[in-house]
Amino acid sequence: MSGRSKTRAYLGLGGNLGDPQAAMAAALRILDARPDLAVMQVSSLYRTPPWGVTAQPDFLNAVAEVETTLSPRQFLDACLDAERRLKRVRDERWGPRAIDLDILTFGDSHIDEEGLSVPHPRISERAFVLVPLLEIAPDLTIDGRPMADTLHALDASGIKRLTVGPDWWLDD
Ligand code: ATP
Ligand code: MG
Ligand code: MG
Repeated sequence: MSGRSKTRAYLGLGGNLGDPQAAMAAALRILDARPDLAVMQVSSLYRTPPWGVTAQPDFLNAVAEVETTLSPRQFLDACLDAERRLKRVRDERWGPRAIDLDILTFGDSHIDEEGLSVPHPRISERAFVLVPLLEIAPDLTIDGRPMADTLHALDASGIKRLTVGPDWWLDD
């Protein structure tokens, strides 16, 4: 990686249509293959109840730590491009999808632009994000607030860690 200095970012992955594990693994491999981005850590896979629109199948979710020389907007475009390559059909908000890639944090950046809000505005309401995020970043704070405290206020009882471990996204 060269040019712009490296930033550590956290990426949320999810899906509940088709083979979400395969789609999430493919997304991580697409991103990691770029010369300007490296996947540093990946959480276990979790099975989570749907959030927002609850009459739909359970989701699989995970979180990855990446280092990148991309700008936040370039990283978003890389994520949206990977979603497109994995044939995500954009339909109902919070509804079923094969793959969802959300930028959770980007260094200490605060961004509130058309089409890009960072930190992701709904992290603190979502145990399906915080459980995998704290697995790989137990001491993470956002705006000085320990995310472990934020998770304690949420109901995480429906979230099940699958026994596939952290290497579920790698080729054999
Ligand atoms: P939510 O953001 O509540 O998780 P969602 O992931 O279902 O909802 P999408 O349909 O995936 O929403 O994305 C809609 C738009 O959200 C994207 O086109 C993107 O421009 C915008 N967006 C804003 N902030 C972010 C972010 N931090 N990460 C990813 N997309 C974002
Ligand atoms: Mg999302
Ligand atoms: Mg999204």
